[in-house]
Order: sequence, then structure tokens, then C-alpha cells
Amino acid sequence: MKQFKTESKRILDLMINSIYTNKEIFLRELISNASDAIDKLKYISLTDTTVGSDFKINISIDKTARTLTIEDNGIGMTEEGLEKNLGTIAQSGTLAFKKENEGKTDGELIGQFGVGFYSAFMVADKIEVYTKAYGSEVAFKWESKGVEGYTVTQTEKDGFGTKIVLSLKADGEDYKYSDFLEEYKITSLVKQYSDYIRYPIKMMVTRSRVKEGSPQDKPEYESVREEETLNSMVPLWKKPKNQVTDENLKEFYKNEFHDFEAPLKSVYAKIEGAVTYDTLLFIPSRTPYDYYSKDYKKGLKLYCNGVMIMEKCEELLPDYFGFIKGIVDSSDLSLNISREILQQDRQVKAIANGIEKKISSELKKMIETDRETYEKMFEQFGLSIKFGAYAGFGAKKEELKDLLMFYSSRKEKLVTLADYVKGMDEEQKEIYYACGESYEKIAVLPQIEKAKDKGYEILYFKDGVDEFVAKILNEYDGKKFKAVTDADFSLDTADEKKELEEKTAELKDMLDFIKESLNGKVKEVRLSSKLKTHPVCLTAGGELSIEMEKVLNAMPNSDGKVSAEKILEINAEHKITEKLKTLFATDKETLKKYALVLYEQARLLEGLAIEDVTGFVTAMSEII
Ligand code: ADP
Repeated sequence: MKQFKTESKRILDLMINSIYTNKEIFLRELISNASDAIDKLKYISLTDTTVGSDFKINISIDKTARTLTIEDNGIGMTEEGLEKNLGTIAQSGTLAFKKENEGKTDGELIGQFGVGFYSAFMVADKIEVYTKAYGSEVAFKWESKGVEGYTVTQTEKDGFGTKIVLSLKADGEDYKYSDFLEEYKITSLVKQYSDYIRYPIKMMVTRSRVKEGSPQDKPEYESVREEETLNSMVPLWKKPKNQVTDENLKEFYKNEFHDFEAPLKSVYAKIEGAVTYDTLLFIPSRTPYDYYSKDYKKGLKLYCNGVMIMEKCEELLPDYFGFIKGIVDSSDLSLNISREILQQDRQVKAIANGIEKKISSELKKMIETDRETYEKMFEQFGLSIKFGAYAGFGAKKEELKDLLMFYSSRKEKLVTLADYVKGMDEEQKEIYYACGESYEKIAVLPQIEKAKDKGYEILYFKDGVDEFVAKILNEYDGKKFKAVTDADFSLDTADEKKELEEKTAELKDMLDFIKESLNGKVKEVRLSSKLKTHPVCLTAGGELSIEMEKVLNAMPNSDGKVSAEKILEINAEHKITEKLKTLFATDKETLKKYALVLYEQARLLEGLAIEDVTGFVTAMSEII
């Protein structure tokens, strides 16, 4: 007996003891796997004529044995394939079981991993898989009764493909598993979930019909058993648009992309032009757990005239739209297009262009017409779009700038840059932002207080990439971006500015003294009118902001030595200024200690660590 991988065990356990109410979706999952397997063999059959063309999925019921069997004549699995595919849950890996998943419901967890095959354990207490891979002489049998493990043995099997035999669980008070032994149940489930599967799903069905020769006024009936195709087999995207409902699209998505959650948005388009193609595009409801890792593979399913030629054609999606799922079917493509050719293929490029435009325009439309969904989308995938705007020195910034959203201090939710500009007063010339680790932390930055008091809207930049995006964009709608934490940020009137200048001139010697005593830690010490209740803050003088310093130093191969030009600003209106003035006149040694404490305190407020802990603590206790 072989052991399942640890993570798989947890998922299995989850399946076996699942209280997930929607257990019936196991059928959809197995049928969908069967269809994928046939897709693969069908592709091979284009070049290997020995492979037949009678592709189908067979379902059979054995009430006595309490088994439900699903069989396909697709590509099958080799011994290694069995181990790899059914011994482990697809790459859910270590990430998957971090603490963050605790407390999630079955449905949410199941949703997150898309655990296709294993979902059969929701209804079966034993599963046998008989399979013979294309090109192989031998067949194998995989068998498991759940968490204890599984066995793989050699077996006999005619033809390529896979047969899955589910021994259904005993009926309990809460669930009647034997429903899955009823023809009508299976028939209706196939109709509901798998109707557009492109291969016939066949089953022996008992039908009652009028006996031949029986009198018309008193008809006699007889039961006959005959094989029926349960699905209509029309691929969804081959149906006229007006016959495809949103409900159809949702079901299709769940089925095709193994997601338990409906997509946030579905798009069905038939494009005619230089290249003609049909496409179904979907925005998933949540970010896949591995989306921001290198394991994630973007791409659309590529079909040529209804034959799948590639599972994930990455050329069809730019990285920043990598979260989009979907299919493309074009009759203009060559069936035997290879990976290598694909990258240069003119048609593929044209399709990719069209898809990108389509996604972009749909998203823009959503901003106008369905803001709520757009916000949800942005919460899940916004980071990807922000990276896109920044990548390649902003090569795509024009296309993406209208899709960006940032948190607004005024609206207390995400807003677009267009929203922000619309809300600007005439005298406000720049787009104000502030950076920090979290919205909460930004909201209490000393510099924010006064700007907010004066009624300005400030964008909160929480993600490391945000400020880089602002710098790359440089401006939006003619308005430059300005950090409220920049040294030259000021909301003063001309009179107020003059007043501050006079005061600064008066205290120049003191300010210089403080700068000297800080020994190169800051480029300047100045009086400030930015602050309300706080005595001091740090601002950045040069191109590099304090937030960027943090982000750059946190990068994997940084030496941690990036340093922004820092300016210590002292609140001119705060009583600390008077205190410093007195000390400058009477006790310069103590003033030095004050300078150090105020500097370190300003660092803390900016989310930087204390630079000189011993010095700080000593100075602090001496003052006290
Ligand atoms: P997913 O389908 O999401 O990849 P599953 O757990 O449902 O995850 O299946 C894991 C893998 O097992 C599939 O990717 C496929 O390679 C293989 N597999 C499952 N069912 C079949 C089948 N009927 N025929 C061939 N291979 C299959």
C-alpha cells in the first residue's frame, strides 16, 4: 500500500468527511476529466490514423454491486501518470495548508484547490481506476479506499482510456448516495452540468414505450433498454450568442476550469476580422493560491475548429491579464501548429491582440456599469494589473492607467484615477498620495492629518509597487503625483509660507545645530507647517521616497543599503519648538539628546526601525 502525499491526505479527509452539500458535482468533475483525456487523444488521432475516431464517454450503473462506472476512450494514464496524478493533489503543495486556511468552510477550501478527481470520495468509499495509456501495451489498476493509501497493480484492459468504478457509500440519514444509481438522476445531472461536452456521454436507459401492435384505444406498454446519448454535445461557443445564457456560461466555466465558484464575469464574443474566432473569457472569483508564484501558468485553451490543440496557450494573454481563463476556437489556425511556431504565428498574434483589447474594453465597461464587481475583481487581481502598468518601464501604462484603483481617504474605498481627478478642487494641482504598510498605518501618518483636515483626498499606497506605478505614470490627466510625505509638499497659502520662512530664519542656528548633532543621519532639519498634533516627521528630499527605500531594501538580492535623503521636519506650531529654542539657549547637551529622540521617533512613525537603539534608550532615559 502506498501513502498519499501529506497535503493530499488532508484534502482526501476533507472529501471523505465532507459536509459540502453539492456532492453531486463529482460527476461533472469525472466527466470533465474524461473529456480532457479524449481531447488529448483526438489531437493525436490527427496524425496517428490507427487511433479510432469513435470517441465517447460511457456511464453504467450496477444496482446490485452499488457501483457507478464512468469510462472514456481517451489518452489514458501510464503507471507513472497514475502515481503522479492520483497520488498527489495537483501541486496544491505546501502553500495550501498554511494557517490562513483554517476556519474556511469545505466549499471554500474545495473551491480553492479545484480537487477534481478526489471529489469522487465525497460519494464513494472505494474507487478503482483501470487505465491504459495511448501507445502502451499494459494496463494498470489504481485502487483506494481513502486516506490509508492506494495500490497500483497491473491489469488487463481493451483499448486506450480510463474506467473509473465508484463503490458508493452506504445511505445515511443525511444523504442518499443510492440516488446516483438511478438513471433519471444521472440523466438529469449530465443535462445540468455536462450538456455541452463535445463527446457523446452514453448510458443504457430504460424507456417505456407502446407495444407494437397493441390496440390504439387501449395501448399496452413495454420497457426497453437502449443506449442513449445524454448530452446535446454542442460546444457552448458554437451556439448563437442569443441562445447562451449567463447561467450556461457559469456552468461551463466551473466545468471546464475545475472551479467550484462561479466566475465574477463571463464574456462570450464572436470576432470576425483578419482572423475569425470565437472566445469565451472568464474572470474567476478569487486569486488562485499560486497566482503570484512562478508555478502559476497563464493561458487560454486553444481549439482549432472544435479540436483542442493546446491546454494553456500562454501567448494569448499578457501577464497582467494572466488571471483570465477561457477558450479560443478559430478555424483559421493550422491544426498541427507546434509550440515553437506558435510564438511567431501571425494569426495567434492577431488573436492575442484582439483578446487583450476585448478584456481591456470589458473591464472599462465594468468600471462604468458594474462598479461593485469591478472592485471585487481589482481586490483579487489588481496587483497583477499594477505590475503590468509598471513592467517594461511603463510600456503598457497608457492602456492600463484607467484600470487602476487605489484606496481613497475620502471615500474610504477603492477609486480610479479618473474618480480622483474628478473630485479635485480647482486649486489642487496634483494627485496626493501617501505610502505605508497598511491603510490603518497610513491613516495615522503625521503628515496625513493636516491634509485630511483641509479636505484633501489622499490615495493610500499599500502595495510595494504602488509608488513605482505612480512614478512610471508620472501624471494622470495632466496631474502629477505628489507624495504628502515629500519634503517639498506644502498646503500653505502665500502668507503662511512667508510666516514660516521668517520663523525659520529666526531659528536657523538652532536647526543647523540639530542637524550637526544628528551626524549625517538627515540632509536637513527644517520647520514645518505640515503637521497638526505630531511634533516631528521625516520626509524624503530626493527622487527616492522612504517607502521605496523600504521596498528596495526588502528585495531578495538587496544589500539593505538603499537610503532615501531624509529631512527631519519639526512642527512649527508645536510646543516642542519652544522647548528646543530654550534648550538651544541654555543647555546644548540636552538639546542633542532631544534631537536624537525626535529623529528616532520620526523613523518609527514612518515604519522604519530605530537606527541607534542604545543611543536612543540612553538619551530617552536621561531626558526623563
Ligand atoms: P485536474 O483535472 O484539475 O488536473 P484531477 O485531480 O481531476 O485534477 O486530475 C488529475 C490528473 O489526472 C489530470 O490532470 C489528468 O492528467 C489525470 N486524469 C484524471 N482523470 C483522467 C482520465 N479519465 N483520463 C486520463 N487522465 C486522467
